[in-house]
Amino acid sequence: MESSRQSVLVLVIDDEPGIREGCGRILSRMGCRVALAADGQAGLEALKEDPADIVLLDLKMPGLDGMEVLRRISEFYPETLVIVITGFGTVETATEAMKLGAYDFIAKPFQPDRLRVTVDRAIERKRLLEERRRTLADLDAEKSRIRTIVQALPNGLAVIGRDGRVVLMNPAFCQACNLDPATRPGEHISFYLPDQAFGDLVAAISQGKTGNCEFATPDGRWLLARFTEVLSEAGEHLGIVLLLIDITEFKLLDRLKSEFVAKVSHELRSPLSTIHLQLSLLLGERRAPEPEKDRRLLARVQEKTMGLIATISDLLDISRIDSGLAARQFEEVNLSELLAGVIESHLPQAQSRNQSLNLRLPPEKLPALKADPVALESVFNNLVSNAIKYTQEGGEILVTSGCEGDFFKVAVQDNGFGIEPQYLEMIFEKFFRVKNEKTRYVTGTGLGLPIVKAVVESMGGKIEVQSQPAQGSTFTVYLPLKPK
Ligand code: ADP
Repeated sequence: MESSRQSVLVLVIDDEPGIREGCGRILSRMGCRVALAADGQAGLEALKEDPADIVLLDLKMPGLDGMEVLRRISEFYPETLVIVITGFGTVETATEAMKLGAYDFIAKPFQPDRLRVTVDRAIERKRLLEERRRTLADLDAEKSRIRTIVQALPNGLAVIGRDGRVVLMNPAFCQACNLDPATRPGEHISFYLPDQAFGDLVAAISQGKTGNCEFATPDGRWLLARFTEVLSEAGEHLGIVLLLIDITEFKLLDRLKSEFVAKVSHELRSPLSTIHLQLSLLLGERRAPEPEKDRRLLARVQEKTMGLIATISDLLDISRIDSGLAARQFEEVNLSELLAGVIESHLPQAQSRNQSLNLRLPPEKLPALKADPVALESVFNNLVSNAIKYTQEGGEILVTSGCEGDFFKVAVQDNGFGIEPQYLEMIFEKFFRVKNEKTRYVTGTGLGLPIVKAVVESMGGKIEVQSQPAQGSTFTVYLPLKPK
């Protein structure tokens, strides 16, 4: 108690010097801080200087009436507790003072103990009031903190009462449900989320079940709804907290992954079946060796295994690119030299098909390019190799290079089979190959162009294609002069 008294300021307003000084002494000995005033006016002045926690107020004073002083203290210093000092037997005055806001009263003449008990009670009262005020302030701060967190959550959140009505929801919930951001809570959950399966689940959950459910929204998104039951301390069901998570991208990735696995399996299965068939023929019981035919069968097996190896290498390249490992080794590359090397290595292939394969560089020297030379070489190897494969015997292939704006531009042009317009977008998809009379006998994996595109884009560049069936194609690669 001693310590709680120390911070308390008690103002004694009494015109009788004996009582005033006496009270001051007792209060000081109790450990309180004390201020003294000889009349009402002086008391109000003192309060203005330093608002006291407790005022001991004599009601009978010359000058400003004690009741008036009490009224002003109640009005201007509502936190201050007033203990009125009344004359003996003046119960009505005390009652009137209490009505005006006095906290307690003490009748004259009084013993020091009586004063101590009354002031201590007032100090305890002040402490309780202060504690309650702090708890309320804390609660309020906590509530607004939680409100801020709920508002800022990236996932949709709604609290649903026992009757299925939404009590609270955040902006992400409105967004997930495609609702106007100004939509207010208060309606039944089915109003906000009209999905049938979801509605059934909400009903089940209202009966006390918890769980998850996935559902598609009318605009084609996928949402995962996660429910958690809210229980009272007695374990009674109060409602549910619903969390909505947009899983559209995961769903898409999942589908793409399944499709990819199906495509890969298909691509691997058909050559393997052929190999198996050829080997069964060769190893067939009761079959006399036929050297010429056997050689042809084995050559076919070899061709198929080479194709499989190429597919698997391409797949490994793709997974390397997808995991961000492509085009990492950036260094200064002399593009003219790199292109000359690519052309030279493909000359035998082009010559075997009587095709011309040329490189045309601008008269001015190309600036040095910062890039991964190995990845870059694989890009142009792929494009030149395609140009040779998809161009008839005797065709022409030309590689040109130069600067355009902030980009290096390399075009690989042929006058070969060309590509029909409806396939122009698809040729960059994994495993897509144009199937027609002309391409029938051309071997490939359908992974070359997706790799080229991924590598070029990982360097901050882009690839474009222009093509006319039976006229030829031009694949143009743009690489930034200053890579990111
Ligand atoms: P691949 O050549 O192994 O089949 P790509 O991904 O490199 O795989 O090419 C995909 C498809 O695009 C090819 O199957 C082919 O139909 C078409 N294509 C690519 N380059 C050319 C080209 N220069 N001329 C005509 N068609 C082409």
